[in-house]
Formats: sequence, C-alpha cells, structure tokens
Amino acid sequence: MNMYEDTSSASRLLALVSQSCSSDVNMDHLISYIVANEVPMLDNEISNNVEENNVDLLEYDHEIEHEDPGPHILTLLIQCTLSMLRTTNFILLWRLAMIINYTRVRANPGTVVLWRKKAAEEQGKEMFKSVFWAFAPSIQAFKHCRPVISVDGTHLYGKYKGTLLVAVAVDGDNKIMPVAFAVVEKESIDDWTWFMACIREKVCPRRKLCVVSDRHIGLKHAMMSDGWAPPDGFHRYCLRHMASNFQNKFKDKHLKNAIHKAALENQICKFNERMDAIGTINEKARQWWESVPLEKWALCHDEGKRYGITTTNLSVSFNNVLKGARSLPITALVQLTFYRLNKYFDERRSSCERMLCDGQNWTGIVNQKLSHNAENANRHHVETFDHQKGIFSVKTGHRSCPGHVYKGGHTHLVNLKEKSCSCQKWQLYGIPCSHVLAACEFRNIDFEPYVKPWYKVSTMEKVYTPKFHPILDKLRIKLR
Ligand SMILES: [Zn+2]
Repeated sequence: MNMYEDTSSASRLLALVSQSCSSDVNMDHLISYIVANEVPMLDNEISNNVEENNVDLLEYDHEIEHEDPGPHILTLLIQCTLSMLRTTNFILLWRLAMIINYTRVRANPGTVVLWRKKAAEEQGKEMFKSVFWAFAPSIQAFKHCRPVISVDGTHLYGKYKGTLLVAVAVDGDNKIMPVAFAVVEKESIDDWTWFMACIREKVCPRRKLCVVSDRHIGLKHAMMSDGWAPPDGFHRYCLRHMASNFQNKFKDKHLKNAIHKAALENQICKFNERMDAIGTINEKARQWWESVPLEKWALCHDEGKRYGITTTNLSVSFNNVLKGARSLPITALVQLTFYRLNKYFDERRSSCERMLCDGQNWTGIVNQKLSHNAENANRHHVETFDHQKGIFSVKTGHRSCPGHVYKGGHTHLVNLKEKSCSCQKWQLYGIPCSHVLAACEFRNIDFEPYVKPWYKVSTMEKVYTPKFHPILDKLRIKLR
C-alpha cells in the first residue's frame, strides 16, 4: 500500500510524520502531496474545531509568526492534529516532528533526531516521552576532538517540567563543543541509558570513549550497559561534584582543598604522600574518598583516559550558553540550540582562521604549555639508554620557585616508543612534558608527532568546518 493511502486525515498525517522521522522520506514529495490532497479538507476540520481548542491554539499562535498571510501548510497541519488529538503531549510530539524534520531533512542532512513515545491513558493513544537530537555539524566535529565527553542534566522550568541532558566535547583549545541534547522526563536509569545509547549509536561509534559526569545512579548504570563498559567506554567522575559531596558531609574546606590537590597529582608517589597526610588529619575523610575506585577521580590512576578533563564545568559553561533556554517551550528550546550552536561554530571558526593567519601551529593553551615545558627542558640533563627504542633518563635541573625552597633534582624515564614518561604528564594530557622535550632536543628528534593531533590549530579548524544551514523561514519561533 502506498504510504499516502489511509482512511482518516489525522492518522494519515501522523503516519507521514512518523515515517518522515524514521526514514529518508523526500520532504518535497510529502509537502506536494499534502498541498494537493489534505489542505482543502483540513480547512473545514479546523473551522469546526478551533473553538473548543481555543486555549492551545492561542498558545500556539503566540509562539509562531506567519511569514506570509496566505494559507500556511504547516500551521494547518498542526491545527488539524490539534483538533483531532486533544492530548497536549501528542501536540508537543507533532510540533517537534515538524520543526526538527525541517531542520534535518530540508536543510541539515545528517542531523539525528530520535524520540520515544509512551502509552497514553486513553487506550490506543501514545504520548511524547523523550527526544534526542544531535546536529550534523556537531557529529562531524566530534571526530576531530579528543575522545572525551562530559554529560550533565539540568531541569526545565517551562510548561513541560522535564530535564535537558547535554553532552559536550572539548576542542583543542579546551573550549566546549556541544555534541548532543535530549529532553527527558527525569534523570532516571532508563532516561540516562537511552541518552547514552543514542550517543553511542548515532554520534560516537568510535570506541574507547571517556565520559566525565557526576555520580548519578542513572549514569552509573548507563555506563555499565552495552557499548559503554570498559574497554569500549570509561567512566570518570567530576571532581567538582565529588568535592562538593565531600564538603556537604565533612564540612571541612581545608581538607577538601587538600584532597583536590591530591586528586590532581600526576604521580602516584606524590598522590600517596598527600593521601597519607590527609589520613593523619581525618582517617574517615580519606576512607570516604578511597571507597570510590581511584581511577574514577585521581588523575594519576586515570591511565590517560580523561586527557585532563577533570570536571563537568564544560557542560555547566554550556548551560550559560543556553541562558534563558530552560523556561522555553521544548520546540523553542530545540530551535535555540540550533541558532546558538550556529553562532558558536561561526565564532570558533573565525578564531581558528585568525590563529592560522598568525601562523600559529598549536592552540593557545598548548602553545603556552609547550613553551613552559621547553624552558624547563633547558635545565634538564639527558642520558641515552637505548637509542633505537628511544629510552632516556632525564635528570631535572635544580631551580628555585617562588614560595618554595628548592625544586628539581629528580630523574625520569622517557620511552619514546611507548610514548611514556615516568612523570605521567605525557600519558595524562597527550602533550610532551619537559623531560620528553629534553630527550627530543638531545637526539635532535622532532617532538611534533608526539603531541596529540587535536591540539593542532589545523585540526581544530576541521572541528568547525562543518556548517549549519538555515531552516526554512516559513516556520519561525520567537525566542523570547
Ligand atoms: Zn615527564
């Protein structure tokens, strides 16, 4: 049977929308069909039903501006559905379908939209449950970012009291790169597992991804599900969240700061020293932290999975980008993410162009780090142990530090073949430490291949090369 052949206009339209959401329906054909066959009939139905649906229509009109005064196909369609199906959540689903499909199919192919429905109280009907969306440019961009995402949830204050879930990656200059969104009912195990499954399937098929988040039970479960458990995925906790939980329980700022320093230590011996000192002050505090697996929060036990991303501040800072969004209707929220991301990509693209024009090879933060490390490398003494395997011992030079009596005089083992240094900084951040730079300098080896590619300006340019395309302006949502 042809997909356009059915009995009632409402069920026919819903079938069209649901098919256009799940497959590559040609929207031009769909619209032509609707104009020819459905609009005249809908007009009558709308006139008969407008009055009893007055409230919803008023709300709807408040949100949408008509570009031209003539018959508006989308509005007619929506109004028709409104008149036939009097469930607010169903209307929501419909409106989302229209807007997101226009974004996806007409203008931005590759954008992913997935949603779930649930059974309504009224028998045989379904209601909106949750929606996931990731714009095509973000999906493309993530391929050039380090394999880490930070995820977080934030409550919505609008008519729909749901939760907005956000996944963000970071570019080579440690700036956020929003990857995916979802509106769900609440942060349940089911919601988080679904969100993470969508990310895994549609956005980040590459394995060995690290996820930084708070210790929400829903996420813990999600990270044990298919595709996210090690060795495919690694869960790391946000240090800021853990420190805040600790502070609530122990109410000791000094101890909290001391543990924060321990968590950021890159060497296990230094970490142990700090934890021992904390244990002598408050053994229960130490036990509280050590009851959580060390790799989840202590950088020196991380095994280079989080690349220095220790908090979900990234997603929090994206919440700032979404300022004012949380009280919007969901459809307007989707639109807002689209326009804000377009603007953000555009700004970041210009920033990359400026860096390239200036002949900058590495991103700002990496430039700084490399210069600092190169300066320290000048004071190191290198001995070759196996030139072929690239094994060196590097003794750090003595130097005075402001506020400290003495520093240096340590010996580190550099293994270029295994890309490791006993100080662990190289493995943890993907940027050669001063010891590695000293060894490279000593043997006249180019250090550039030892810097992770996502820190290059030319790679960052690739992150922001994908472009958003304007959505048809027939449907315009006011972003109040
Ligand atoms: Zn080192």
